[in-house]
Formats: sequence, C-alpha cells, structure tokens
Amino acid sequence: MILRVFRYTPGAPERMQEYRVEARPGMTVLDALVEVERTQDPTLAFRYACRVGMCGSCAMVVNGRERWACRTLLTALGAEEIAIRPLYHFPLVRDLVVDMVPFVEKMKAVGTAFVPSHGAAEFALIGSDSLERRQIDPTLECIGCGACLSACTMVAHDPRFPGPAALNRAFTLMADSRDDGKVERWAPLLSEDALWRCHGQANCTEVCPMELSPTDSILRLRRRAVMSLLRSHA
Ligand code: SF4
Repeated sequence: MILRVFRYTPGAPERMQEYRVEARPGMTVLDALVEVERTQDPTLAFRYACRVGMCGSCAMVVNGRERWACRTLLTALGAEEIAIRPLYHFPLVRDLVVDMVPFVEKMKAVGTAFVPSHGAAEFALIGSDSLERRQIDPTLECIGCGACLSACTMVAHDPRFPGPAALNRAFTLMADSRDDGKVERWAPLLSEDALWRCHGQANCTEVCPMELSPTDSILRLRRRAVMSLLRSHA
C-alpha cells in the first residue's frame, strides 16, 4: 500500500512524500505512520497519545475526510493509495502536526467554562430522565480533536466564527441549570459571527468521531436565543 503523506517544514515548500507499507490485518492509519517513522523516516512528524480513540490528538485528513488515525483501519479505506494531510483551518507546525491554539481560543471566546451558580446547594440534583439531562447527554464526550473545525466551511470563511466544537460546548452550558454564565455568554453567541453564521451543512456532524451533532446543538441554541428574546419582550 502507498501512503502519500503531506510534509511541511517551516521555511520550505509543502510537498507530498510517498512511503510503502504492508497493510496487515487490523493495521490502522496511525500504525502505518508509526511504522514509517520507525523504519523508514524518523523525520516524519505527527501527533498521537492514547492510540485507543480517547484523546483526539491524532485527528487528520485521510483520503479527503477528517478521521482519527488510531481508529481508521487501512483496509476499511478500500484504496491502494492513501493520502494523509493535516487538519484544515489550523496553522501548520510541521508535517501532520497543527497548532491547536485557535481551537482553545474559539472555546474561550464563547465562554465555554462552567460558571457555578452563587449560593447553589452543594450538589445539584438533575434527574437522569429529566429533559435537561436528556438534552445535554448527547452533546457531551467531545474529545477536542478539531476534526469538526477542519470540516467546517464557515470556519474557513469567517475567522471569528467560533466553530462547531465551541458552539456545541456552549449549548451544554446554556442548557445546564447549574451554570450562571448565561447572560455573559449570549453576547458573543448572538454576535454576527457566531450562531447565525452556521449554514447547517452538517459537515461537522458527519466527521465527528464521537458521533456528536454540533449542528443540532447550534439549532437548539438558536431556538433558546429566540425564546429568550421573546420572553424579554413579553
Ligand atoms: S465535536 Fe466531535 S469533531 Fe468536534 S472537536 Fe469534539 S469530538 Fe472532535
């Protein structure tokens, strides 16, 4: 099998480099990259940590689609030639490694830290079958891989757009009755570069390895925004 891997070193032109690996049963894209790095080219740079689909650090674009390399079997790609490039819309560091700072900055921009309610009881009781719990549950488990930002065309178009992961996180907090940061959070969310910018293409939802739906979260946030505006004018 041929791997065509994106290579980049600051100050030098980008290029694709070919490597050959034998695709063994159960071998993942990450396994193949590790093998190349260990046996053919120790200069190849890529990022990974857990190797078992927990940390999200090995997200990259494989044959045109954002995937986590540690969970993508070579055989499942159904191709003899595999093109691997870094996530889109992030600054390049080297080869397949991108700078994740913009991901964190986008999170911060819409207030994605939990703000505990003043005077709240020590333990909040949220029923497992409550509407609140049922709405929030499917939005948790983001592993911060950045695949959704890479797939999002609006992230490319508007650098101020917070992107799917931050908006998904914002929804979990806006729906959380224990959180006290809602008023402050609406300002960035309702700016012209945030909630209303999403065109609902759902590329983010399609590529999310955790099967989250940031698209749904954005729609739910919009609904909440309209309801809160109506309430404030009632
Ligand atoms: S929402 Fe999904 S694709 Fe986006 S960063 Fe979180 S896990 Fe990755």
